[in-house]
Amino acid sequence: MKTYTVHCSCNRIELSLCGEPKARVICHCIDCRELLDGPFYPVTVWTDDTASVTRGESNLGIYQHPRLKMKKYFCTNCGEVLFNTNSVDWWAVPQWLIAKSHNNQLPRELTAVTHIFYEQRIVDVSDNLPKHLRGFSSPLFEG
Ligand SMILES: [Zn+2]
Ligand SMILES: [Zn+2]
Repeated sequence: MKTYTVHCSCNRIELSLCGEPKARVICHCIDCRELLDGPFYPVTVWTDDTASVTRGESNLGIYQHPRLKMKKYFCTNCGEVLFNTNSVDWWAVPQWLIAKSHNNQLPRELTAVTHIFYEQRIVDVSDNLPKHLRGFSSPLFEG
């Protein structure tokens, strides 16, 4: 099974991601924006049995959002966010983190296949990927 190894900027924390992600999306939802401070979130999502911290767990800081059922995990040394979890404990690992650990090239099989929560966007994106207004089964944005 394919394993992806990723690490934070200072290299103290390492994650291992095994097999195939549960989802590969670009999320425009307001919750991701609030938790992660970006206009949208290109991310791979892993179940907690396919993702693990393989080094530096003692450096891992956890921020529990006061209102959302979301936690953000970061390195207490370099400050980089490594992943966040949602209410069902899936791990959302940013694409840029994986790319950084692979010579700045996101492995092709991990690229996003769709946008979600596009109706909550603050930035328009013109690519050829489908853009769901909300979750995966919601209608598509007709620009
Ligand atoms: Zn670090
Ligand atoms: Zn989101």
